[in-house]
Amino acid sequence: MRGSRVAADTDDAEALRAVVGQLRTHLEMRGRSGLQGVGMGKSPRTQVAVAAVPVAAAEIEHEHEHEHVNEHEEEMAVASEKPRIGKQGLQVVRDDLGDCKRCKLAPSRTNLVYGVGNPDADLVFVGEAPGADEDAQGEPFVGKAGQLLTKMIEAMGYSRSDVYICNVLKCRPPGNRNPEPDEVASCEPFLKRQLAAIRPRMIVALGKFAAQCLLRDDTPITRLRGGFRSYEGIPLMPTLHPAYLLRDPSKKKLAWDDLKAVNAALARVGIHPPKPPAG
Ligand code: URA
Repeated sequence: MRGSRVAADTDDAEALRAVVGQLRTHLEMRGRSGLQGVGMGKSPRTQVAVAAVPVAAAEIEHEHEHEHVNEHEEEMAVASEKPRIGKQGLQVVRDDLGDCKRCKLAPSRTNLVYGVGNPDADLVFVGEAPGADEDAQGEPFVGKAGQLLTKMIEAMGYSRSDVYICNVLKCRPPGNRNPEPDEVASCEPFLKRQLAAIRPRMIVALGKFAAQCLLRDDTPITRLRGGFRSYEGIPLMPTLHPAYLLRDPSKKKLAWDDLKAVNAALARVGIHPPKPPAG
């Protein structure tokens, strides 16, 4: 009982930290882009209270989601009004990360791997954590699995620079071991803020770890994949990780089916890749 209460309190504290971080990004972006309406000079407490009003309104809208035939298309249509201020927002979050020493991965990293691509992307890919190549180069998905991901993105009709690519963790776990809970607790709030800054129309979660983490759902990836879910009002497609596809190429078709479903859902709200998709 006591253990689960402590876990719930920890979850609440983490959720609160993430919301405050997202609000901070939002407020700083508004301040930097000269938008009026939320005074940057007010106390942090007042800023949070003022900025929370549209958040509460959005939550009320979500309570009625079941009334809509296709909630995910509605979510994408709402997102179409987004202002193109992802670059500023991402810079705020990057500045806050700084020379991050928040968790035990910092001493062994060569480079912090933040994210790469279009800061106003409609489509964001989220992986697990950097591997050796990513750690060496400071860019996500540049090793063997990354090369396969690049091919998958290109088969969809996009290039890497059209989309945004990042990971749950920004630093490489030694020997590519699985991320540990304290590392995720330190790093995930920054991923959430990156996603809040970009506000993509669609997220593709690559593999079990990213999907389970973003969805707070420990269903196996083999069952999660292929079905649209919602992450903070953004449609999310869980699919198989490219490293897994390298180990079992017979599963590539399943991942391609998922990516075709992503393209089809985006097409229904008028978003098309710059080049014709393969097949
Ligand atoms: N695997 C991931 O999940 N992310 C990377 O950046 C590279 C490999």
